[in-house]
Amino acid sequence: MKTDYLDKFTGTLLGVSIGDTLGHPFEGVLRERIYSRFSDFKEFITSNKKLFNTYTDDTQLTLHTAKALIQGSGFNEDYLIREYVEWLEDPPIGPGFGCISSIQKLKYGIPWKKAASNSGGNGTTMRVSPIGLFYCNDIKNLTNFALHSSNITHSHPAASAGAIVVARAIAFLIDKTIETKFSVDEFFDVIISSISDSREKIWDEFIEILNKIKNSLNISLEAGLIKFSQVGVKSPYFIEDYLGKAFVHPYTLSTVACAIFIFLKYLTSFEECIFQLATAGGDSDTVGAIGGSLAGAYFGKENIPSDLIQLVRGYKDILKISEELWLKFKEIYITKSTHNYL
Ligand SMILES: [Mg+2]
Repeated sequence: MKTDYLDKFTGTLLGVSIGDTLGHPFEGVLRERIYSRFSDFKEFITSNKKLFNTYTDDTQLTLHTAKALIQGSGFNEDYLIREYVEWLEDPPIGPGFGCISSIQKLKYGIPWKKAASNSGGNGTTMRVSPIGLFYCNDIKNLTNFALHSSNITHSHPAASAGAIVVARAIAFLIDKTIETKFSVDEFFDVIISSISDSREKIWDEFIEILNKIKNSLNISLEAGLIKFSQVGVKSPYFIEDYLGKAFVHPYTLSTVACAIFIFLKYLTSFEECIFQLATAGGDSDTVGAIGGSLAGAYFGKENIPSDLIQLVRGYKDILKISEELWLKFKEIYITKSTHNYL
């Protein structure tokens, strides 16, 4: 079956923004506390629309990544830095320390190798999905550019591992559909191999975590979140009070682990999947954004309910950016290859 790239590009960017918007009110809140507020999340959204009136830095930076790829006809370090510096004027909504501190340095012309913070936070993984989309048929460049895009602001290997794995997962999911489904074993083989050249010890640690998720998909969502929400987390990211509770720590390995776990538990409905992602507890907006990028790449826009799309602030701009990114992708990859065949 032919891949509807426009549907998948749009679905992915909408997935980020919907997950971010729905998770935002629950950022830093324990899962059990989130669920004490409602019995039906859909109803809760309808009657509390004001709570869900914005997305955060996750969506902002994702859109800036997309714009840099459009302007540069692909990855261009200077365009990426320029877009991230422009984000400072948006202004940033709920930014993480790793991003804001390094991008402020970039603004003053400090080279990225010196500006990057040694943060293992989610700042780079949450914005990487446009790279996964643009390079979905060019995996060598996908890996290189996901890594490079991460290093510009975060020198920590957990950040780059997360960015590569999420970009690779998006490329894997883009030609899968809910009709054709996909092999979960193959999904893990592909994402694990993207970081298997053991450049960093933490990358090996992440592979072990991914294998654990693969073998834990039969446990309940709650049990899985307790198991993975602080996996691999070390000081200063560890919050002792939340030991043994479902509270996703804002550390890349634990956040990506939980996002993947939840996504794979809810492969039948975008809505159910995104609801579970956004109410994970802890770094809920980012679990929503990262897991939302996977769900959006898999389900595509056509399977996203329109009321969720319309909930997103400025969603028409997101539709426009998605289309521009797709057009640029088509120009570089599809038109060229068609031409070669002729
Ligand atoms: Mg955020």
